Amino acid sequence: MTRVYADFAARKAIELLEEDSPTGFTKKATAWVKKEFETLGYATRTSNKGAVLVDFGGVDSPEGALLFEAHADTLGAIVAEIKGNGRLRVSKIGGLCAANVETENVTVYTRVGDEYEGTFQLCNPSLHVNKDSASQERTFDSIEVVIDENVSSAEEVRALGIEVGDFVCPCPRAHITESGFIKSRFLDDKLSVAILLGFAKFVKEENIRLPRHVYALMTTYEEVGHGGAVILPKDVTEAISVDMGCVGNGLRCTEHQCSICVKDSGGPYDYDVTTKLIEGAKKEEADYVTDVYPYYGSDVEATLGAGNDIRHGLIGSGVYASHGYERSHIDGVYATMKTIKGYLGV
Ligand SMILES: [Zn+2]
Repeated sequence: MTRVYADFAARKAIELLEEDSPTGFTKKATAWVKKEFETLGYATRTSNKGAVLVDFGGVDSPEGALLFEAHADTLGAIVAEIKGNGRLRVSKIGGLCAANVETENVTVYTRVGDEYEGTFQLCNPSLHVNKDSASQERTFDSIEVVIDENVSSAEEVRALGIEVGDFVCPCPRAHITESGFIKSRFLDDKLSVAILLGFAKFVKEENIRLPRHVYALMTTYEEVGHGGAVILPKDVTEAISVDMGCVGNGLRCTEHQCSICVKDSGGPYDYDVTTKLIEGAKKEEADYVTDVYPYYGSDVEATLGAGNDIRHGLIGSGVYASHGYERSHIDGVYATMKTIKGYLGV
């Protein structure tokens, strides 16, 4: 497999990152996913709760079908209160960190289809006025959204059509550097959706004969824990989450590698699937490491939790500063795609 497909995946990731999709508000992203896979010639199906299933085709095999899972939902926030001063208090969606989004631009989406710009700011943020601003604890009570409209009361905010329950989406700031680094919020897990799209393009353009039935599922509730809890096609015997690889102290993975997770908060991954992932990476000379993730749960564990009797695995491109302003690299994307290729033996 040439690196062209990894470059394609990285470019497509940037497109998808522009489609705001916090958990509970994912329709723009899933419409993009459907359109992109269908453009490549694949059939898709959307589940009741919005997950997109893509059929890669392949022959019936005694080992059963293989499902790849990636999630199209991201962290974000929802308006919890319109304050008397016209600012917004938010409730976080997933593990969004208040300190991390301070000063980030946001888009507020109203239920009637309007969009407003704003910024996450500390309450009373001017350093020339608030001498304690640097040392104050950052929480979603001390950080608020300042809307970029002439509003200074709750009534004026409501007159814009903004109400409790509207979604607040931090700007992803997606960017690929000359040196191949991919920088953005929410690489977790849109980078993996794009990796599966890149692999789909490889299969189509190189007329790859898949030795077993293969599906890809793009889920929409991973960041709150039940994305992978869906009804699977009957022939699926194995599922592999393609999600961000952890990078940090005590772990080996870098942004340039494919991380094969052997254990996370949900326990060890299936021994045979993990071994076959390692063998597949070796066969394709993909740059990979195995790691244990200390604080991590995956979609495929939700799939198991939903009662599906399957074998499971987890791989992904290394992502630095996860759930913050994240960074990966096209090298890691390429290594992950080669690991998928090696696993399938194509
Ligand atoms: Zn994720």
